[in-house]
Amino acid sequence: MEKVPLDSDKLKITKRPLHQPPLDELMSVLREGLAANFEEVSVELGTCPQDCERKPSRYDLCGNPIILGIGGPAYLLPLPQKDKLYNIEGILRRIDYRGNAFVIGAGAGLWPRISDGGNCEAVVHHHIDTRVGSVINNSRYAYVDKSTGECVVPQQIGDNEQHQAIMPLLADLYVSEGEPGTVVKVCAKTRTGKSDFITSMQKALANHYKDKLVGLGGMFTMRNGKIRQHVMQDYSDIPLTTEAKLNNWLRFYEMETPLTAVGIFVSAETDLDLRVQHFHSYAHNNKEAGHYHIDTTPDTIEYEGYFNVAGTFYRVDQPPNRLQFGKD
Ligand SMILES: [Zn+2]
Repeated sequence: MEKVPLDSDKLKITKRPLHQPPLDELMSVLREGLAANFEEVSVELGTCPQDCERKPSRYDLCGNPIILGIGGPAYLLPLPQKDKLYNIEGILRRIDYRGNAFVIGAGAGLWPRISDGGNCEAVVHHHIDTRVGSVINNSRYAYVDKSTGECVVPQQIGDNEQHQAIMPLLADLYVSEGEPGTVVKVCAKTRTGKSDFITSMQKALANHYKDKLVGLGGMFTMRNGKIRQHVMQDYSDIPLTTEAKLNNWLRFYEMETPLTAVGIFVSAETDLDLRVQHFHSYAHNNKEAGHYHIDTTPDTIEYEGYFNVAGTFYRVDQPPNRLQFGKD
């Protein structure tokens, strides 16, 4: 992997205003989508969550909410394009996001794990101040141990990396000023349908809003069950040209809860070739992390989420070619 990020000022960035529906309407759309797949559902207004027992503990999601869709699977597959390295702080400055930026979401890889050629799943959690260029990196990451095949989560990010926000290939990030405020609180228990927590809501948005682009970001916790998640292995030497080859390269795990996930979902791919949902989560015991797919214990699973409606989508360095797989 190249060690110098691409010049943020030279990246192609497309700015797209998002449709922001009235909250009452949005909540009823989400409620309907979840009720088709879960036995117990509540969608209401709530305040931004805090968790005093763990770090990072605050998820204040309000103030100028935006989504950054950076790169894409077309840069990872069939072989990784190792020059695709992004400086999140530089991108925020480029789009004139002034002041405090609280950045959460899902990304492929995270400095420094990527600097030695390794690969990982990043659970992104950055506090950035673009006025002074400061970064506090509370992200976590998981990788596959080559010899055991186990998922490994380093307990700490190195001293040098605590002040870097550098990511390769692709990332789907929710950014706000990190202010407390009112958000949409969503609870769902006991899955009776085929769709997972996020897919239930994403499909409901897609069906209702059709050509209007709506985007949400935030976090959710999962309890009382197990979750299927994947972690990418180190970069493949063999080109991953099909979904079967991709799924053979990804390592799937059944992870214990509680887990906390961060990420985004939007109503449609549009011409911007968006990923319609992307969440990564980490275990509260800090032992596992990965890319969220679905719970494997539908009878007992409990979800509690907090989401805010973004106002603008920034598509950063959109790949020239559209991949037909790799976005699940
Ligand atoms: Zn992912």
